[in-house]
Amino acid sequence: MTDCIFCKIVDGRIPSKKVYEDADMLAFHDINPVAPVHFMIIPKKHVDSLATVGEEDAPVLGRMMAMAGRLAREQGSTEGFRTIVNTGRIGRQDVYHLHIHIIGGPDPLPRMIVQE
Ligand code: 5GP
Ligand code: ZN
Repeated sequence: MTDCIFCKIVDGRIPSKKVYEDADMLAFHDINPVAPVHFMIIPKKHVDSLATVGEEDAPVLGRMMAMAGRLAREQGSTEGFRTIVNTGRIGRQDVYHLHIHIIGGPDPLPRMIVQE
């Protein structure tokens, strides 16, 4: 999709700090990290959000989840991490290209939902 930031990252029009890449997915560091480890895993194919994902995307989504632990450990989250998929207006999704946040580091994170 031409105007999508993450599609631009996939095809190199916008630079990123890559964590992992294969034919189906890309993982790269979040530009505005909220913890010492904060990267995202995205499908290379443009999919708007978890709300609109189709059955045909299940294999790549499964592979993205299956890679999360290994990549998190490689980035220094050796004792666990949090996965977040913000979805739609209610989930406060900002970038409408499906992404799994992987957030962690050496210390325990705040509890799940922090009140504003
Ligand atoms: P969302 O709120 O949609 O779940 O998360 C979007 C994330 O993308 C945010 O955490 C934001 O910091 C990150 N982000 C937005 N633009 C860029 C960019 O150009 N490069 C990188 N690496 N991350 C970005
Ligand atoms: Zn996209």
